[in-house]
Amino acid sequence: MLAASVAAADVPASQDPIALALTGTAAIENQRFGDALEAFTRAAALQPGDASLCFGAGVAAFMLGQNDVAQDRFERALALNPRYLQATVWLGDLHYRAGHLPAAISIYEAALQRSPKERELQEQLVIWRKEQELQSRFLEVRTEHFTALFEVATDEALAREVVARLEAAYSRVGRTLGVYPSQPITVVLYTREQFGDITRLAAWSVAAYDGRIRVRLGGALEQRDELDRVLSHEFVHAVVAKLGGRTVPAWVNEGLATVLEPAGSEDAEAPLARTEVRPALSTLHRSFVGFSRRDAEIAYASAARAVRRLLAQRGAPAVVALLEDLAQGAPFASAFQQRIAMRYEDFAALAARD
Ligand SMILES: [Zn+2]
Repeated sequence: MLAASVAAADVPASQDPIALALTGTAAIENQRFGDALEAFTRAAALQPGDASLCFGAGVAAFMLGQNDVAQDRFERALALNPRYLQATVWLGDLHYRAGHLPAAISIYEAALQRSPKERELQEQLVIWRKEQELQSRFLEVRTEHFTALFEVATDEALAREVVARLEAAYSRVGRTLGVYPSQPITVVLYTREQFGDITRLAAWSVAAYDGRIRVRLGGALEQRDELDRVLSHEFVHAVVAKLGGRTVPAWVNEGLATVLEPAGSEDAEAPLARTEVRPALSTLHRSFVGFSRRDAEIAYASAARAVRRLLAQRGAPAVVALLEDLAQGAPFASAFQQRIAMRYEDFAALAARD
């Protein structure tokens, strides 16, 4: 007891880079990325030569969706230690998600020149070069807020229709949320085979958002209503990512994307009538991509119902403010209580009975 207080008096924890690094690491483990960013930033200022402190700050900023800060911290970590494998991996991923595939590739190539045997880098590079080769053949059409990439010239009419439908979703979702992203959003149109190769998602998946909207054409998407629904859904994911960063719970993200689908879409909550067992919201914080088709249906339906309740209870501006708090680093439960004026556990208990 005495020894600890003497040590604490010697160096206040706020000025001890080791203590700050431990605080930052614990905050990352507990998904408190705002606290983590603060701790690592202060530690790095005290010990500017330590690459791991820059890296920690980069991870926290990345998770908050603060891409410029994250890029700067990862680059500083690599300048201090060019063989820093995790900094290479995260910086490459950051560029990839920002749609800067050539930058992602060149970062990995530079790292492999220094450490030629890194399997993780080699394997990812093979996949990225394949995507780059495919993309180099793609054509594009643009509107004010969207760019569509597609491979075959005869698909140009379809690509134009895709961006026109996305513009319609942009206006409709914008009117509901009061949010109009200014940066253009890219949508890449794939064949079934290309989509499987590039995204490696479950077979039930027809579209994804990972910084770009990726859509698997053909099949159900030949029906215009279904194409509309899928494009609107993925556009909302783009909006959520821009507002809330990467810590938004999956049920909030998928629920918003689902309830904001165009009127006339199939009733997303119908699967709830066919099941007795409902997942708790606390089990729906991580992505649904690993779920079976049946579990995914129930998860989407539960998420949609919970978000519908949220919107009915507090309105869209409160939900937008909640997302913005997450991007600033607020933990979900406290941001929820602040913006929804209710404890998260109490809301989850209500949602379970809906
Ligand atoms: Zn989704």
